[in-house]
Amino acid sequence: MLSFEEARQKVISVVRERGARAAHDVVEIGRGFGRVLAEPVLADRDYPPFDRSTRDGYGARSADVAKPGASLELVGEIKAGDTFSGTLAPGQCVQIMTGAALPRGADAVVMIEHTRPEGKRVHFERAGEPGQNVVPRGSEAREGQTLLEPGAHMGYAELALAAQVGKIRFDVFRRPRVAILSTGDEVVPMEAQPGPFQIRNSNVLSLAAQSALAGAEPLPLGNAPDHPGALRVMIEQGLSADILVLSGGVSVGKYDLVESVLRELGAEFFFDAVAIRPGRPAVFGICRNKFVFGLPGNPVSTMVTFELFVVPAIDWLGGAEPRPLPLFKARLAAPVHQKAALTHFLPAELAWEAGDPVVRELPWQGSGDIVAVARAACFLVVRPEKLELAGGDWVDVLPRRGLY
Ligand code: AMP
Ligand code: MG
Repeated sequence: MLSFEEARQKVISVVRERGARAAHDVVEIGRGFGRVLAEPVLADRDYPPFDRSTRDGYGARSADVAKPGASLELVGEIKAGDTFSGTLAPGQCVQIMTGAALPRGADAVVMIEHTRPEGKRVHFERAGEPGQNVVPRGSEAREGQTLLEPGAHMGYAELALAAQVGKIRFDVFRRPRVAILSTGDEVVPMEAQPGPFQIRNSNVLSLAAQSALAGAEPLPLGNAPDHPGALRVMIEQGLSADILVLSGGVSVGKYDLVESVLRELGAEFFFDAVAIRPGRPAVFGICRNKFVFGLPGNPVSTMVTFELFVVPAIDWLGGAEPRPLPLFKARLAAPVHQKAALTHFLPAELAWEAGDPVVRELPWQGSGDIVAVARAACFLVVRPEKLELAGGDWVDVLPRRGLY
């Protein structure tokens, strides 16, 4: 059985080899959040475009303020957005505001707090060095320089950068379309009143939200019954999308029909089990040139396996490099013991104590327990090589995407 790292690698290599990247769209910047860039963004001019003061203070020649106690003639004032036409002569200074352009001749700004006005002169209590409180023209970026490469995720900083350089519309990759199909005779629509032994369909909601968070366009198809004919029809419908994600019907039960129906449709499988809990029966294949993930139906299994295996496929098909799994280390608040030689993903809470992240396993009833996951900030990762962990041990933690 593959480890989760091997299974993830498998997804990435198959998608790279066999996947076709989505076509391009053009978006207005206001609709660009969360999209993946399909063209580079260049600097339209030097940044900053002038030598920029980072403080409110006085611009001067550093040679004139090399020692504390200088007194200089005040010859003007520069607000942000203004210029100073002349060149600063030796012995002169200008009042300057944060974000304003330093005048010719000046090469330092002394903070206003370190000066004292003296009529038409200014007394400098402290010295200034060349370049002090000044960001030189072009030091952040040179005109024509590539600032964002194709494949960049447009988050808030990337959008601000595009706005700064006047790139108000840009090419992005089309979002991969992820068809979402749950299965199970016991599953009813969430609007329905379930019978005593039925359950509401929650997986379509979590899978749609996870797809959207990963940058895909979710296409919820509803629920298929555990009947080969009806299941086949709905799977065929789902194969019109770029990725089909199924929940349920992939274990060894009598009514677990997903794999056999996919096989009838000519699917090729790359794995149908991964050494993890929850999520062990996860399936990945290609059917009619589309990527198919059969995720186990227990809600926590569905959530975890989506994060581990579907997200990298969305990344690649959506024009980005598959993002590494955002694992980080935290200190265990209490011992953890697991028996099965698998990688375990346990719902856990996180706190920061004395500067260290501290993780604590939450009580839970296994892979059906959405109540516990909704309380959890992360999953604590227990590896098969070390199933007994002591309080204070450093362990891997997988944060719940969207919360951090
Ligand atoms: P399965 O993987 O089909 O054996 O399903 C395992 C369990 O997951 C079922 O017994 C249900 O309790 C639960 N389950 C399956 N599908 C869903 C769904 N769409 N929403 C919520 N729970 C589900
Ligand atoms: Mg089922």
